[in-house]
Amino acid sequence: MKHFDVVIVGAGPAGCATAISCARRGLRVALIERQPFPRFRPGESLHPGIEPLLQQLGVAEQLCGHAARRFEGQWVQWNGTPRFNGFGTDDSGIWQGFHLERAQLDATLLAQAAALGVEVNQPCRARRVLTQANRVIGVDTDSGCLYASCLIDASGARDWLSRQLGLTTHNCSAPLVARYGYLHGYNAAYATTAHLLADPDGWTWIAQVGDRLLHWTRLTFERNARSVMLPKALQSLPAMGAMRGADVTWRLTPAAAGAGYFLVGDAANRLDPASSHGVLKALMSGMQAAQAVADSLRQPAWQVPVQMQYREWLIEGFARDVAQLRNFYRQHPYPPSWLPAN
Ligand SMILES: Cc1cc2nc3c(=O)[nH]c(=O)nc-3n(C[C@H](O)[C@H](O)[C@H](O)COP(=O)(O)OP(=O)(O)OC[C@H]3O[C@@H](n4cnc5c(N)ncnc54)[C@H](O)[C@@H]3O)c2cc1C
Repeated sequence: MKHFDVVIVGAGPAGCATAISCARRGLRVALIERQPFPRFRPGESLHPGIEPLLQQLGVAEQLCGHAARRFEGQWVQWNGTPRFNGFGTDDSGIWQGFHLERAQLDATLLAQAAALGVEVNQPCRARRVLTQANRVIGVDTDSGCLYASCLIDASGARDWLSRQLGLTTHNCSAPLVARYGYLHGYNAAYATTAHLLADPDGWTWIAQVGDRLLHWTRLTFERNARSVMLPKALQSLPAMGAMRGADVTWRLTPAAAGAGYFLVGDAANRLDPASSHGVLKALMSGMQAAQAVADSLRQPAWQVPVQMQYREWLIEGFARDVAQLRNFYRQHPYPPSWLPAN
């Protein structure tokens, strides 16, 4: 029987950040990931706040070096004349985000986890949660049962553990599907800043994420809206791969920690990509959950207060992000009909 302090389902940024942070605290950790890497996942544009987190995880040098493509904010053509939304400045200068290949981010984080002694099982799928007396005690996987003092769900939008345990989730927007794709080519207008362009049906985001690679994401606020609206200058560029879609409905699982488990990253809550820091939140929640797990293993009497604190921290952060995004969408020339009045 294999027993670990922590078993983590999903090796995206949330799962790897949890694994690295738990291993650094001396915990015995197993990480299971259903897909072989490189896996496909959109989201190359990273908020500058990610740099100190990558430093704490010990991977900043590999990821934020000279080769990283930096950007200082985005042009928003929302209501009236286009305006530049910078990330901000401080004494050390202008804050800069990154465009980073997701495959590189995934591989670097996973290699760091493995180097710290995390047992990586990949490809390996979590099939069924194991419980005893209303407590999560492990997971049945493709390669057998893994038992753990704490199970972490980092399965992203699949909501694996929420479904297994039948946890309540709250939708805070209408059902939303983002369409996205890649274009082969270079356009100077998108090279140093990303663009977020409003139209009567929603918005389109465009960024030059690689030397010869542009990314676009389009979100329509209502069903039956027109789908893709790329600027004329990009319409002749060849597509790299097919257009894809992702469910980006704003969603929260309030019971994100309980007896023997924590949810991190998109599995705990998510917004649509206009909130622009899904990866940052994934890393932060993984690191926060690792601290909570270590505390409750050291002091079993702290388990319940630690779980409660983690849940409150997530709910408050999500409420702040929702308020900000609603406010942003209220300024859209054609705001979504499903926005509450205030
Ligand atoms: C169109 C689009 C554009 C985006 N753009 C950005 C952006 O520019 N910047 C940004 O910061 N964020 C962006 N995001 C959001 C970002 O991609 C996510 O917030 C981030 O990937 C969440 O990380 P995670 O680790 O929680 O989940 P994921 O990255 O989804 O990882 C979850 C992992 O769990 C694995 N898994 C699932 N089920 C199982 C199972 N049963 N057993 C084992 N493994 C399992 C999956 O295979 C996957 O590898 C975008 C999202 C979309 C849809």
